Amino acid sequence: MPSLTDAIRCRAGLCLLVLMLSACGREAATVHESQLLALGTLVEVTVLGGSDEQAARAVQRVGRRLQAIDHDLHAWHPGPLVDVNTGLAAGRTVTVSAELARLVRDGQAFERQSQGLFDPAIGRLVRLWGFQGDDPPQGPPPAPEAIAGLLAEAPAMADLRLDGRRLASRNRSVQLDLGAYAKGYAIDEAIAILRRQGITDAIVNAGGDLRVIGRHGTRPWRIGIRDPFGKGVLASLQLSGDRSVVTSGNYERYYEYEGRRYHHIIDPRTGRPARGLVSMTVVAGTAERADAASTALFVAGPDAWPGVAARMGIEEAMAVDEQGRVTMTRAMAARVHFEVEPRPSVGIVGP
Ligand code: AMP
Ligand code: MG
Repeated sequence: MPSLTDAIRCRAGLCLLVLMLSACGREAATVHESQLLALGTLVEVTVLGGSDEQAARAVQRVGRRLQAIDHDLHAWHPGPLVDVNTGLAAGRTVTVSAELARLVRDGQAFERQSQGLFDPAIGRLVRLWGFQGDDPPQGPPPAPEAIAGLLAEAPAMADLRLDGRRLASRNRSVQLDLGAYAKGYAIDEAIAILRRQGITDAIVNAGGDLRVIGRHGTRPWRIGIRDPFGKGVLASLQLSGDRSVVTSGNYERYYEYEGRRYHHIIDPRTGRPARGLVSMTVVAGTAERADAASTALFVAGPDAWPGVAARMGIEEAMAVDEQGRVTMTRAMAARVHFEVEPRPSVGIVGP
């Protein structure tokens, strides 16, 4: 059994970071498995090879970095991003960290590539729907007039002007919510830390969204994709080298009201939860890109997602629609092994 070696409560007392370390010699190389509670989810770090001390040191650094990212990029806990949003709403030019400047630029690029389906400037809509809060979201859904009012203001990343680290918005309705790609960015940062510690074979898994480097001994890493209609595993993927897998699903944050489900992925065209898909899984080179694309393709829906994937440079993606039908790119099909019986019907899209 893993032993509890460290427990740190962060300043706000809102996030509890629990570090559990275990090492077992199942393979020729030692497998070090650790768990952290960060970014609002359970983060599992698996490191292959090296000493216990090296793995423990690396995981501790990862924990501290994830905690800092959580603090700096949080959309509603008091901190730098909330201050930036307050300034933008007041029409002020604000100075942002190099990290936030980079994420704004990346967000602008993802918004352009997705033709506005990925829009981290819609923080006010996300809040209106009740998805900016520590408590589980609750109905009823917002009034149509309130949604229409925010839609009419059309906040977009394109409204933002960055001059070095000076950030201004020509639209006071812009409120940054980085929830659709900050977790991916944080996973990338964690992998960078592991690499700087000399680790070559590892996986960082934040609640099912992950990046792998190297191999699991003599085998590739094997990753499970959650069944969006149940708790089990829909399919597994084989990954090695350096790949990231991120899934957006309608089951991650939602509430039911009068028999209908309202989830947290908002279609900026309608101001309402995106319709058509229940999960969207993307494989990409970085977790940040996979995260942004999984959200954008989820919003695009069953017909449009392959075109948006192509524009975002995504070759491997798999969608499950509201009827349980699965579609995926040919490159994705080469990786996927279904774990459910009967195997779902699968449509292949794209070249
Ligand atoms: P994900 O689980 O990665 O798909 O991200 C969903 C989160 O991203 C939501 O909880 C919101 O914080 C934010 N979000 C919702 N809709 C969008 C959108 N269309 N574009 C960018 N961010 C969004
Ligand atoms: Mg995402």
